[in-house]
Parts: sequence; C-alpha cells; structure tokens
Amino acid sequence: MSQPSHAHDENCIFCKIAAGKIPSRRVYEDDEIFVFDDINPWAPVHFLMIPKMHIPSMAQVGPEQAALLGRMMVLAPKLALEKGCRPYPEGGFRIVTNTGAEGGQEVHHLHIHVMGGPRPWLKG
Ligand code: 5GP
Ligand code: ZN
Repeated sequence: MSQPSHAHDENCIFCKIAAGKIPSRRVYEDDEIFVFDDINPWAPVHFLMIPKMHIPSMAQVGPEQAALLGRMMVLAPKLALEKGCRPYPEGGFRIVTNTGAEGGQEVHHLHIHVMGGPRPWLKG
C-alpha cells in the first residue's frame, strides 16, 4: 500500500530507520511493516516491529489500522521463532507496547517489542 508523504515525520528516529536513513539490523520488511533488532536488548531475542507509517502510539490507532496491527500480531510469533525463540510452551516470547509517558514510551513512533530466549533477562 502506498502512503502519502505526511505519513512520515522527518524528525522521527523510527521513520528514519524504516526508510533506511539510519542503519539497523533488519529482521523483516514489507510494504507496510519494518522489523529490526533493538539496539539495547533486554533479552537474548529482542526486536521491534513498526508500521512504516508514522503513528505516534497505540493511543492514536483507529479502525483503519486494524488490519495492519492484525498483520503485525500474526507476524510476531513467526519472526520470534526465526530469531531463535524456542517453541511454545517451553519457550515463547513476550510482546510489549509502551504507550505514553506513564506507559514508559520513549520513542514516539508506535512499536511492538518482541522479547524471548533463555532467562534470566536484563529486564522484564
Ligand atoms: P520504548 O521505551 O519507546 O518502548 O522503546 C524504545 C526502544 O527503542 C528501546 O528499547 C531502545 O533500545 C530502542 N531504540 C532507541 N533508539 C534506537 C535506534 O536508534 N536503533 C535501534 N535499533 N533501537 C533503538
Ligand atoms: Zn515515525
């Protein structure tokens, strides 16, 4: 799906990562979704899934994002296994989306943390 130019924020670090203007360790990419390793991982597997469109947080999503968010959720378990998470139920993974200051959000471009791998983890 093509996106209008206003769908990106030129000052946003994750828009720049999705556009390849800031390097990252890419895990997956399609027309609407970009996935990359977290630069400061909390767990042996820790990657971030973002929409290429600039959506600040979960507080801004509406029905028009339902299909995109659904696709991201369906993709998460597949990528978790590819990245080395062991299968459910012994293995598994954790999905987190921090939203707003009190939700612990630091980067204001919607992102889904996917974390997994053997414990202990640094956080979580
Ligand atoms: P938040 O606290 O907003 O939920 O999480 C932001 C996450 O983005 C953090 O886990 C942080 O390590 C990661 N992060 C911030 N800047 C960069 C970057 O430039 N590259 C990558 N790969 N991850 C980043
Ligand atoms: Zn952005």
